[in-house]
Amino acid sequence: MNEFIPGIYNYCDRWCERCSLSHQCLLAVREKKRLAEHRWKGEDPYDWKIIMQDVGDSLKEAMELIKKAAEDRGIDLETLPEIKSEPRDPDQHSLFRTAEKYRKLAHRFLRKLKDIIQEEGIDLTKRVEIMPSPEKEAENFQEIALCYQVILWYHTLIPAKIYRALSMPDTCDFDSDGSAKVAYLGLTESIKALQKIYHWDKNLEDNILPLLITAGQLRKGIDKKFPGHCHFKRPGFDK
Ligand code: SF4
Repeated sequence: MNEFIPGIYNYCDRWCERCSLSHQCLLAVREKKRLAEHRWKGEDPYDWKIIMQDVGDSLKEAMELIKKAAEDRGIDLETLPEIKSEPRDPDQHSLFRTAEKYRKLAHRFLRKLKDIIQEEGIDLTKRVEIMPSPEKEAENFQEIALCYQVILWYHTLIPAKIYRALSMPDTCDFDSDGSAKVAYLGLTESIKALQKIYHWDKNLEDNILPLLITAGQLRKGIDKKFPGHCHFKRPGFDK
């Protein structure tokens, strides 16, 4: 257990394929093991029934661990006082509504960008056949394809993390700040990617500017609502 960083997966962006700390993440290591075990048995690890069964097993295991930890500390889980907290409705919060606006704008933009990338990809292949070394072009193109991945990954994660941050009761400011930070970092990465695409193809200005404005509003909104996010230390990622 010592090799794992406790709670690292609670405040990450869940982009495991490019995570530099996946070897220290219990969740990632378990998932790898789960996939290998099912494949070894000739089962499809992405089959819905298999996933649900695994989720059930892991919940059971988590409950047993909680019970054991409570017993060790002499805590009776049955008699714990009820924690009363005001119900929250993040759907109505302007920050979440702006995050949803960003998601929808990004979704439309990504569809358009995907078509352009696919056309350019074919074009570039043709140009490689005609001209000997359009290396720079290929590099730029790869960079744009990567920017596409970045915007794609974060455009759904951002509203999800903002929703979580807004859902937490006042007693969980720490967790709200952590979720808000993940959304903020995702926005920062997305803004950089959008700026690169803007310089790559100025014809996309009309699509990119509203996205940049909305992303900027979101970052300001997070700063205002969750000022603690900038001091939050994500386990494993922040010193
Ligand atoms: S910490 Fe890294 S490996 Fe673990 S869930 Fe998050 S992104 Fe994936």
